[in-house]
Amino acid sequence: MAESHTAVDAGVGGETLPPDPLEDVARQLLLEIGEDPEREGLRGTPARFARWWREFSEYDAGDVGTLFEMKAQDQVVMVSDINVWSLCEHHLLPFSCAITVAYRPVGSVLGLSKFARIAQRHAHRLQVQERMVEEVAEEIGAVTGSPDVAVIARGEHLCMSMRGIRTPALMTSAVYRGIFEDDGPARHELVAAALRGRS
Ligand code: ZN
Repeated sequence: MAESHTAVDAGVGGETLPPDPLEDVARQLLLEIGEDPEREGLRGTPARFARWWREFSEYDAGDVGTLFEMKAQDQVVMVSDINVWSLCEHHLLPFSCAITVAYRPVGSVLGLSKFARIAQRHAHRLQVQERMVEEVAEEIGAVTGSPDVAVIARGEHLCMSMRGIRTPALMTSAVYRGIFEDDGPARHELVAAALRGRS
């Protein structure tokens, strides 16, 4: 990682930083697809390209560890419609996901905004949807200490919509742990919420 090229790092004391190497990558890309990187519309593109990649890959989702005390009750906490954008690692094309998470707290609950942060953190890297869902479930389990965790993601992948079959398609992946492994009421409620989220 080129820490000297982050978007916020504008240089201390007014010195100019060397250009981000990603700008050369963008210029090379433009040349390879038959463009002229010096033409008017493209002159600022390499710098914007570099900035965007740095912002995406160096994204900081913030703290996710805040738990609130709660009388352990037999109830499921569910958060639906967490929307994230990620990049498919096979094509470097974006995919958007609506994520629904659920878990059964053991004595304490995680602040609701933390679920979005956890999801964003795992979305801001090169991904495949199935692995992202696994990672989100893993972290929710680790942070909350609950063995009962479920994550459902419904994603639209530009690598499917823009190329190949060129049909917008929703792909669903899910991880079910603990009480959600059973195809019973807990899971049914969750699936219904996930499907309502994006139609
Ligand atoms: Zn892809």
